[in-house]
Amino acid sequence: MTAIAPSGCHQSNMRIAIVGAGMGGVLMAIKLKEAGFEDFVILEKGESVGGTWRENTYPGLHCDFPSHFYSYSFFQNPNWSHRFSPGPEIRAYLESAAHVFGVHDAIRFNSRVVDGRWENDAWTITLESGETMVSDILITATGYLHVSNFPDIPGLDSFAGAKFHTAQWDHSVTLADKRIGIIGTGSTATQLVAELAGKVAKLTVFQRTPQWVAQQDNPAYTDAQKAAFAADPSMLAKMYEDEKAEMVTLADGAILGGNPDARAYLEANVRDNLARVKDPVLSAKLTPNYAPGCKRIVISPRFYEAIQDPGCELVTERIAGVEPGGVRTDAGALHELDVLVIATGFDTQAYFRPLRLTGAEGHRIEDIWRERPVAFRTMTVPHMPNFFMVEGPFSPIGNVCAFLTAELQVAHIVKLISIAAEQGVALAPREDATAALLATYRDAARKTIWATGGCVSWYQDSEGVPTLYPFPNQTFEAEMTADPNLAEYVVTPRHAQVTP
Ligand code: NAP
Repeated sequence: MTAIAPSGCHQSNMRIAIVGAGMGGVLMAIKLKEAGFEDFVILEKGESVGGTWRENTYPGLHCDFPSHFYSYSFFQNPNWSHRFSPGPEIRAYLESAAHVFGVHDAIRFNSRVVDGRWENDAWTITLESGETMVSDILITATGYLHVSNFPDIPGLDSFAGAKFHTAQWDHSVTLADKRIGIIGTGSTATQLVAELAGKVAKLTVFQRTPQWVAQQDNPAYTDAQKAAFAADPSMLAKMYEDEKAEMVTLADGAILGGNPDARAYLEANVRDNLARVKDPVLSAKLTPNYAPGCKRIVISPRFYEAIQDPGCELVTERIAGVEPGGVRTDAGALHELDVLVIATGFDTQAYFRPLRLTGAEGHRIEDIWRERPVAFRTMTVPHMPNFFMVEGPFSPIGNVCAFLTAELQVAHIVKLISIAAEQGVALAPREDATAALLATYRDAARKTIWATGGCVSWYQDSEGVPTLYPFPNQTFEAEMTADPNLAEYVVTPRHAQVTP
């Protein structure tokens, strides 16, 4: 990272820093390498590859997207154990991709980036250790599910037993003999409930808002199927395309509403699934009062079966506070617990923060994003030259698999970086172009079910507007595959720099 970036330089001379060695960061490195960039580093705060799949290790963790689609399109795995595979398999898959495509050696682990400052036509990057480095390009691939959200519940810290967020699971705590409380009923909590019900002394689930839960079987692949996938890569390619078509049809049709049949299928699925709850009182407690798809649909083959387990209790009274012995609700009851699991999700509006960024002329990200996160085409920010985000604000994450989104974004980012390299310039999106495009995104987002469906969710910003791409996948593909229009960017020549 001490190489030179003269203006008009070749790809190989560009110094590039990627923040995060999860799905997006590994992909970014692979595609930069393929495009001829050689001087890149991935700065990773943790000790291994995997991002959210490294941090989340809770019991029952698995992916609720089909595995052959929840993959890089160019790196298919014949050995997925299930249609929806467990988290450790996904983490191992990402690790393997980093090795197979020769980018693992470019990862610096235990290197948390805390600050980035655009000065002298380059980014000065500061790590938590105090070390600094200079890079021509800065890319964040930090995901949007990495800053744990802790509920503001009185007395939370007073709990006397073991207490942890699902993303920081404490595996030293034995569970079988314990009374366990789970706060939250999102995708994470439902996977946990499905795994733990019937296996612990007692499971108490504190639900603030019911979720719509879709039923999906999760069959294991047989050894014969895996051998057939390995022997014939075209089978894997077909699996990817079939699963992609299925998911995109469902997302565009049922969630964005373009296809009444897909919508009817989704509605029937979640209502039929709920009908498996036999006790009318429990069923009423579990019935949402908002449209399916407003919040992210929970997909679980076992949640309703698990919540009906005699050792499982669903508590819907508001939590008044946490005490050393357990959780007390408004109704006055104390639910005595040995372990309290915080399954309250993530600060999804944080994106790469708490990393601080200061761009051209001292513009700071906390000022630019004071009202809400702002991004141009989901990837760049005004006044932040040669700065790019994978899975930035308004990415399609409520409708399309994160791998597909990232592949499209990364291809576009590589085009922009190539222009910056070839022309010896720094690129930042124009403020007016960004405002105009964001106005179209936000207007459309206000009309999606994520805003009109009658719920509050992590998709929404502080004004209740979903920070998600509001158009069909095809439109996103067209936006990402189009050549960048430099009229939409502030293009600044960079001065030649000299090797120290
Ligand atoms: P989440 O969907 O944001 O759910 C958080 C839960 O905590 C909700 O039930 C929420 O209730 C509750 N909650 C939050 N603050 C609370 C408070 N102060 N008091 C009581 N309850 C509170 O978080 P998540 O389940 O971790 O899932 C986040 C996302 O991660 C998912 O939507 C998904 O994208 C991803 N994920 C994916 C998989 C996968 O298989 N691919 C698995 C797990 C997670 P309200 O509904 O009332 O806000």
